[in-house]
Amino acid sequence: MTFYKIQFNAAKMSLSLLLLIFVPTLLSAQERLRVDYEIMEYMQLKANDDTVSAAIGTVGNGTLQHAKLMPYKGKNFIYFDRESYLAGRGFLHGSVRKSVLTTYDSLSRSLPHRYFNIMECSNEDGGEMFPHKTHQTGMSIDFMMPLLKDNKPYYGLDTIGAAHYMLNFDDDGKYSRDPSISIDFNLVARKILLLDYFARQNGLNIFKVIIKIELKDELFATEYGKILKASEIYVVQGLSPLINALHDDHFHIDLGFTYNKTPQAENTESIDRILTE
Ligand SMILES: [Zn+2]
Repeated sequence: MTFYKIQFNAAKMSLSLLLLIFVPTLLSAQERLRVDYEIMEYMQLKANDDTVSAAIGTVGNGTLQHAKLMPYKGKNFIYFDRESYLAGRGFLHGSVRKSVLTTYDSLSRSLPHRYFNIMECSNEDGGEMFPHKTHQTGMSIDFMMPLLKDNKPYYGLDTIGAAHYMLNFDDDGKYSRDPSISIDFNLVARKILLLDYFARQNGLNIFKVIIKIELKDELFATEYGKILKASEIYVVQGLSPLINALHDDHFHIDLGFTYNKTPQAENTESIDRILTE
């Protein structure tokens, strides 16, 4: 193990610890899947109004008005961490939320037995959401990588809550502790293409996809990956070592308004100051 690798792992570990401190995950996996009274009450409390959301500024320096809360659970998806949800980190711009929900609806019809996890979104009022440097306007979402084990859908790592950010995958997308578990790259590409397609119906499009650079080859080699590569969707070309190391268990998406000349999703922060996208 090189010095740099140790350093990245240490950074990743500290990020995860921070997340764990802020969003403690003490509940069992099964409890997390239950939409209990507290979650229902929270969803009711934060029931969406009809006012159009406003994303102000950039994903790295902005705010969000009239945010809409992602449902904790849908037919084929669930928010990944109960405490994170109740801490108010599952909000999105209304148009983004609509695009994500339509994407899941479409996936539930084409792949009725496949389940997905949505990870951190934004605060209700946007702004800084430690330790993320972006996610400030409701236009950024982290999506958990769908996994395969022996070529079958695998969900054994989906239920660990915030600690999921800490998982490590090698440069081929295989889980470091069990190489029989690997990222379903074809499904990642398919989901990105669908989200961009439905986002365009809401005046948005994907401005940026962040995924560990070493995983791009695997992503683009798949059936849907080839379509993604040929599309206009921007998949990052280069990342700081820390940001790169973090985007193996999940991929990050920034959306923006198609008509905007100044991209909402433009990230103006300097790389060293970023803890995580
Ligand atoms: Zn992110």
